[in-house]
Amino acid sequence: MKIIMLGAPGAGKGTQAQKIAAKYDIPHISTGDIFRANIKNNTELGKKAKEYMDQGLLVPDELTCDLVTDRIQQDDCKNGFILDGFPRTIPQAEALTNALNKLGTAMDYAIDVDVPDENIVNRMSGRRACLKCGATYHIVTIPPKKEGICDKCGAELVQREDDAPETVQKRLTVYHEQTQPLIDYYKKAGILKTVDGTKDLEDVFKSITDILGA
Ligand code: ADP
Ligand code: ADP
Ligand code: ZN
Repeated sequence: MKIIMLGAPGAGKGTQAQKIAAKYDIPHISTGDIFRANIKNNTELGKKAKEYMDQGLLVPDELTCDLVTDRIQQDDCKNGFILDGFPRTIPQAEALTNALNKLGTAMDYAIDVDVPDENIVNRMSGRRACLKCGATYHIVTIPPKKEGICDKCGAELVQREDDAPETVQKRLTVYHEQTQPLIDYYKKAGILKTVDGTKDLEDVFKSITDILGA
């Protein structure tokens, strides 16, 4: 099963992608996590990506597309994968379509987690992230068992720098300009499914598994 998670920053893509990956036993590929890991390890890619991420801008397509099209050809992607945060632009979507085309295959579902802008700022200001394993929490709606500590791996939770309110506003603008057109792109491709992302975590998950099947 090959799945794309679409939706605004903070819509809950990552939260749902982790649960889907576990349930269907497919890798969760988050470009945001890949960039953050590169920043942490101070790689050349990380240095370049950080300049854009800190400003709430997208990392250029040239630095992003090959990364993903290479990743999805690795062995663990044989039975499918879930893309979270990619594609984010029409050229990225086209690069993905073409890469899969060459392999004689295509994406199965693009799931749009729909959350209005007015809910996003709340979600982002309470978000706490584990940079070690990629798990995400919310101080009010999805708190960790122990404050500030990741349930899954025990690492310390942090507030992402790009979750500051000014940067969130910028990211939302970028989302509407550059990423939202993908909804139409995948509608035309016939694989778009929309779920109401304002519901509770488990209700959103159920809407998604109803689409994907047992
Ligand atoms: P969110 O979870 O809020 O949607 P991500 O963790 O997916 O955020 O991404 C954080 C930042 O990393 C983005 O604001 C952007 O700068 C960069 N980024 C992640 N994925 C992509 C991508 N596919 N194309 C360009 N930039 C990306
Ligand atoms: P994205 O990957 O789309 O940027 P995240 O999965 O990181 O979004 O979720 C953004 C924030 O909202 C996190 O703090 C997360 O814990 C919280 N969150 C995710 N899904 C829900 C939900 N259904 N209800 C309330 N809060 C949620
Ligand atoms: Zn963790």
